[in-house]
Amino acid sequence: MIRADSIDNLKNNLDIVDIISQFLELKKSGANFKACCPFHGEDTPSFVVSPSKQIYHCFGCGVGGDSIKFVMEYQKLSYPESLEKLASMCNIDLVYDKETNKQDNKILEEANKFYQKLFSQNESTKEYINNRGISEFSIEKFEIGYAPKSQDTINFLKTNFLNLSQAKDVGLIDNGTNGLYSRFIERITFPIYSISNKILGFGARTIIGHNAKYVNSPQTKLFNKSTLLYGYNLAKEHIYKTKQIIITEGYLDVIMLHQAGFNTTVATLGTALTKDHLPLLRRGEPSVILAYDGDKAGINAAFKACLLLSQGEFSGGVVIFKDGKDPADMVKDGKIEELNSLFNSSINFIIFAIDFIILKYDIKNITQKQKALTEVNDYLKSLNILYQDEYKKYIAQKLNIRENLIQVNVTKNRQVETNVNQIDIAELCIIKTVLEKKDSLKKVLSIVDSSMFEIHKKEFELLINDSNHQSLNLILLNESLENYDDDRLTKELLILLLKFYTNQLNIIQYQKELAFKDKILLIRKIKDNIKQLKSGKLINFNLNKVQNSN
Ligand SMILES: [Zn+2]
Repeated sequence: MIRADSIDNLKNNLDIVDIISQFLELKKSGANFKACCPFHGEDTPSFVVSPSKQIYHCFGCGVGGDSIKFVMEYQKLSYPESLEKLASMCNIDLVYDKETNKQDNKILEEANKFYQKLFSQNESTKEYINNRGISEFSIEKFEIGYAPKSQDTINFLKTNFLNLSQAKDVGLIDNGTNGLYSRFIERITFPIYSISNKILGFGARTIIGHNAKYVNSPQTKLFNKSTLLYGYNLAKEHIYKTKQIIITEGYLDVIMLHQAGFNTTVATLGTALTKDHLPLLRRGEPSVILAYDGDKAGINAAFKACLLLSQGEFSGGVVIFKDGKDPADMVKDGKIEELNSLFNSSINFIIFAIDFIILKYDIKNITQKQKALTEVNDYLKSLNILYQDEYKKYIAQKLNIRENLIQVNVTKNRQVETNVNQIDIAELCIIKTVLEKKDSLKKVLSIVDSSMFEIHKKEFELLINDSNHQSLNLILLNESLENYDDDRLTKELLILLLKFYTNQLNIIQYQKELAFKDKILLIRKIKDNIKQLKSGKLINFNLNKVQNSN
């Protein structure tokens, strides 16, 4: 069970515009946002999202609710599943009843205070930090600390009666052949926070020449390095405001760039950028600048990140620090202007990726050139169709070939997908109701036929012809679909019919092959139907009878 205060915390951190825009394209419309409703078929947007009320509502089909309801309906998830999905989208940790997450955080907080206190007492640590140009203000802001000898940390935990097995759970200590030992031994510590400012773990740099220059907390129930970004908690306000985020590879780069005023800087935690970082990166829809080292590892990492970000349709680009330069040292040397112009002249992700692929081959050699074309073409096909067209020309120039040798995807994959997934809650509920109450079938059949269902014709036909079909079970078992009572069923049928006859009226008015006399008759009939429906009377299904009589 997720604890109630944890759910409240999650709710407080949800922004409905952020959430829904990860699934739908929202357009600003006055104080609100609009989109075509994903729950019923439509061409003009009647699905409205209100940031001030933090709700959505469709004026076409009447669905509505908060962020949680949206994720439940759109992704077809249960309530707890939706909470978990939202928590991971927002990088927030949920607290479960049986666990003691608060206490886990408390231990990390205590350790952090302990390390911070030791920092000011340790001369060599202070010297290292001073030499890197880090100011007193930054030391405070980033809570830089010092982890002592292994036994000192163990003693600290013991004398403060902190639970050792919990300390193990959060990755502070572990069992070794000689008993308990500290994970962080004689290292400078950098606490790592969640987006909601909860301490989750540490990154730590050696000052006595350990083999591993940096170590991080191990994977724990709190700490998952592939979803976290160092410094995000301090940068987030600026990221939302300036719509920009700078991603570097190191803790010191983050600290020094913040110190120089680049306060949207974050870093991955000694790992490549992964797809699990993307939900966090999407928050506030910033443009992303990758600021990576110019060595082979840095350029390879930048390429992989470019693939992810371009396929994820992020805007932004890459800045590579050549000739052994790094952002932290540039700040220390006062090269702020140079940094500024570097960040302003980043190379677009797609260009960077295309160049990287082509550079792997010697394109003067025809076989190599063919390989380059195949690889770059495969990459292009993984992008949104709009980009495919845009970059065809660039690739043709780069490889010195005709543009028509580059193939792009003609079908709009995305659109096909959404059509397949299109659902109409009201139609499905009508079908569910009939499935549950077989005796309502007769009533429904005398009023509607499958052609009146806009989205779920197929399901309605199955209901009549093959009511044990598997796709009907999905409707039957879907708990988010309501089982209507008689009144509601009547009301929903009225809406369905009204929609249908209004559509028919439009179609018939433009039908050339229909004789004038018949057309008038039919229009009158439909208008009469609409009138009756509007007065709340369900009419028998009689449209085809009129048409067939000719
Ligand atoms: Zn709708």
